[in-house]
Amino acid sequence: MQTFNCRCGNPLFFENTHCLACGSEVGWCPACTTIVALEPLLNGEYRCTHPGCGSALVKCYNYAVENVCNRMVVMSKGYGDTLCDCCRYNKVIPDLGINGNRERWAALEGAKRRLFHTLGLLKLPHGIGGENIRVPLSFSFMADALPDHGLWRSTDNQEKVYTGHANGHITINVKEADAVERERLRVDMNESHRTLIGHFRHEIGHYYWDLLVKGLDENACRQVFGDHNNPTYSDALEHYYQQGTPANWASQFISAYATMHPWEDFAETFAFYLDMVAVLDTALNMGLSHAKHDGTLDDMLLAFHQVGMAVNELNRDMGLLDLAPYVIAPAVRKKLTYLHQLIQNANASPYA
Ligand SMILES: [Zn+2]
Ligand SMILES: [Zn+2]
Ligand SMILES: [Zn+2]
Ligand SMILES: [Zn+2]
Repeated sequence: MQTFNCRCGNPLFFENTHCLACGSEVGWCPACTTIVALEPLLNGEYRCTHPGCGSALVKCYNYAVENVCNRMVVMSKGYGDTLCDCCRYNKVIPDLGINGNRERWAALEGAKRRLFHTLGLLKLPHGIGGENIRVPLSFSFMADALPDHGLWRSTDNQEKVYTGHANGHITINVKEADAVERERLRVDMNESHRTLIGHFRHEIGHYYWDLLVKGLDENACRQVFGDHNNPTYSDALEHYYQQGTPANWASQFISAYATMHPWEDFAETFAFYLDMVAVLDTALNMGLSHAKHDGTLDDMLLAFHQVGMAVNELNRDMGLLDLAPYVIAPAVRKKLTYLHQLIQNANASPYA
């Protein structure tokens, strides 16, 4: 991610809604793809103050009313209940009658906006139903049945919500936005990271399997990740939770969970690729590296390793978790090579 500048000269960040120096309202202008100071006009409209842009904008409904977004919508699209280019993918939002859910939703939307930013860097396609896309994308943020003033309250008649992907629809359990819950799950599952952005990057990996591989490139994918039809997903899941992770997983896989089934391996490796692209983009913008997020895979891996080692040590200075793994096994590099090519082909061809 890059940083941006307010019209007063103060730096602005991707998450900002106000400039802390001059107090201007700020938001993401989709016309110049920048976080900018907003000049209020009449009737709740705004003008982008970015030099050379000046677009007439309105706030996304989830910015103006719900306070969980910081994106603007170009006026020509009409407004009132307009959703921005990220919020328009939402199908189910958390029950805002439950204490803390608005904050959890805001955290989920923040991570989702970063996901879309990285997809944009890679020019990866996505769209909603009714648009020209083979697999429409959507998101639901839902909670388990929660104790509520002594009564159990169910959401959508489901007692338990599983974070996952099915046919373009990504569901995330809102408890993942609760830092205590998430860390508990991370320790329980022996993961090196467990983050909201990580969940989005993993689940979108399943989405791109459906969009780019299913029925199009399954044989080539099978050569690299193994046969996704044998064993079946449900057999593999049962086996994984009964037998646990093989001890030598790191020689073949990016994570322990990736051993579960070729689809999980694909999603975990895809998530790592997006981690790497996001970190390289930030490192370049901050002057920490000269490598580009869309260079050769060898250059990307080398730069990610160099930046990762530096940040690992900084994190250790502060008692935080490591950012990057030390070693990428040859088998994992082969999988990344496949994904690198798949992503490059995706933005070069009208496969959707
Ligand atoms: Zn300012
Ligand atoms: Zn603009
Ligand atoms: Zn929005
Ligand atoms: Zn998965």
